[in-house]
Amino acid sequence: MEVIKITPRGYCHGVVDAFRIAKRVREETNGPVHMLGMLVHNTHATDDLQAQGIALVDQPDRLAGLSQIKEGTVIFTAHGVSPQVKQRAVELGLKPVDATCSDVVRTHELVKDLALQGYEVVYIGRKGHPEPEGVVGEAPGKVYLVQDPEDIDALDLKGDRIAVTCQTTLSVWDTEDLIGRVKARYPQAEVHNEICRATQERQEAAVEAAQHVDLVIVVGSPRSSNSLRLVEVVKKLANKPAYLVDRLEDVDLSWFSGVKKVGVTSGASTPSQLTRRVIEYLEALEVPA
Ligand code: SF4
Repeated sequence: MEVIKITPRGYCHGVVDAFRIAKRVREETNGPVHMLGMLVHNTHATDDLQAQGIALVDQPDRLAGLSQIKEGTVIFTAHGVSPQVKQRAVELGLKPVDATCSDVVRTHELVKDLALQGYEVVYIGRKGHPEPEGVVGEAPGKVYLVQDPEDIDALDLKGDRIAVTCQTTLSVWDTEDLIGRVKARYPQAEVHNEICRATQERQEAAVEAAQHVDLVIVVGSPRSSNSLRLVEVVKKLANKPAYLVDRLEDVDLSWFSGVKKVGVTSGASTPSQLTRRVIEYLEALEVPA
């Protein structure tokens, strides 16, 4: 099988920084160390961190998760947490360590500033994902989380000061559409597109490469927003089949009937050795005559 290795792919700076912080904390700490959710959304990376002695506390509600930790250090993940979670950790006598990606921190600061200036903030993000939960917590009651066009239609904002911004790991194209929909309803809305560079570059590269292959494999975990969006943009914009593969065993040979050329990319939190295994497997695959 001919395999096109799509670049850029794999680890972004936020993920690398989060690993570096977690490793340092584990090495320098004698007591228990916990991560409040998956440090980055990849099952293999999470298994690896647990094997190094960092316990996973995986509650959708971060405050509920905190209450399960009795003592020691708690690492806030690359997706960020709300100020309420930070404060609660201190109240519980835990030692907080912040591994939030600098791009996510920038969005927190932006939303906080806008709310202080009196803006109502429309925030485009995925419901149930930790990043929106953290950002919305910067200004409760002033930030409106929207995911779909219907959510935008249901808004009833009255003020002159309206801003629209977004989660860092969304589909570039879907987000543009949603921002357009907000602007159509509220022409006065200020736009702050916060999709991070890593997400944007990986999506653009995947869509461009997909034009020249028969299908695309995205190596990443189902919890990874940016990996799921890679699958989505290839299907939607390049009109090519795309599949998410968390581990080599997920590869289904029935996908390759009539396929001669496959593109491979990976999410921003996918370990490169895993992607390499998938690439080597596909390269060794016999193309049916
Ligand atoms: Fe940061 Fe973007 Fe990487 Fe998320 S995908 S950790 S926002 S650089």
